[in-house]
Amino acid sequence: MKAIMLDATWDPRPGYRPSDRERATRKAEMASQVWRHPRFAPVDLPDPVPGHGQVVLKIRACGVCGSDTHCYEHDEDGYVRFSGPVRLPVVVGHEYSAEVVEVGPGVRHLRPGQLVVGEGMLYCGVCEACRLGRWNQCQDLDMLGFSSQGAYAELMSTDERWLWSLDGLADSLGDEEKALEWGALVEPVGCAYNGMFVSAGGFPPGSHVAVFGCGPIGLGAIALARAAGAATVLAFEVMAERRDAALEMGADAAWDPREVSAGDVIREATSGWGADMMVEAAGAALQTMPEIEKAFAPGGVMVYLGRTGLRAPVLLDVMVTQAARIVGSRGHVGHGVFPRIIRLLQAGRLDLTPMITSRIPFERTIDALELSTKRTDSKILVTYS
Ligand SMILES: [Zn+2]
Ligand SMILES: [Zn+2]
Repeated sequence: MKAIMLDATWDPRPGYRPSDRERATRKAEMASQVWRHPRFAPVDLPDPVPGHGQVVLKIRACGVCGSDTHCYEHDEDGYVRFSGPVRLPVVVGHEYSAEVVEVGPGVRHLRPGQLVVGEGMLYCGVCEACRLGRWNQCQDLDMLGFSSQGAYAELMSTDERWLWSLDGLADSLGDEEKALEWGALVEPVGCAYNGMFVSAGGFPPGSHVAVFGCGPIGLGAIALARAAGAATVLAFEVMAERRDAALEMGADAAWDPREVSAGDVIREATSGWGADMMVEAAGAALQTMPEIEKAFAPGGVMVYLGRTGLRAPVLLDVMVTQAARIVGSRGHVGHGVFPRIIRLLQAGRLDLTPMITSRIPFERTIDALELSTKRTDSKILVTYS
């Protein structure tokens, strides 16, 4: 089978000492500290054979994630930008939907021909974080397409426990292709769902919500806020194309945050009340925090989903006055996130089509990664014939 493989050179940064475990397993816990000079190439691999409890999947769609782009790109010193766990060489790709083609011994619910979508954070289930139910904070996490073979491949094997059926969605849409395309978007939307409704505990219907950054996660946050009964959904995004997508996904209005004070705009649009929930999906805390600070409603919450290695000053006094909260959140697994998003799609409460701005065939996956570095698309989908 054909696959797209990432390799790089193990060359820890001066001053970074990999742990004994990192050296023994060759899994760098922070790829950006260790992996240098990334190279993507098409390769031929043996077809996977399903182990106990595993299925073999024919991949049907796979979204290009910002994390893939961060492995494709490198900094001035040649190190990949991605800061999660990476073991190389690896087949990249984790936002996928697929068809089951073979089931291994011990598989309980799946059969060949079924359409599925899979979770990409492969938590161990054994560490203390997992046993507390904090699967997204697993201390021995493997990530599909980074430290475990991923989905930019014709075939992939994975455990049944990561998979959710898309058959109901395909039936209700009467459109298998659309179900598969939406299926590949469940993961990024899941990051927004997990942040807003699991980590931050949600908001009462009738709330005012503001979203900073309208990449796929921000767009997912907008659609989910609408579906969950927000009275107002306000979007801030520097790229014009993405502001248009925000409106299509259900935002009431979208502004370029370089042209307005987002904090003032939120106050004005909510008759002075402020935002009950703010979602930071821009990873630009230095620019967004001063505005977010101004816009907390009493008891408001800010969910931080973006990533930046930079420190951002916060006027904590505001948190006291407004009894406000800042909640960090990572991941999309567990807590019923995947099946509930699939139900929303099936019930016609979420339409993810406006998120898809390019479709590129699997044979041109590397072109898709190159295109993603321009950051003009919302979601680039790799499609498989
Ligand atoms: Zn992703
Ligand atoms: Zn664990």
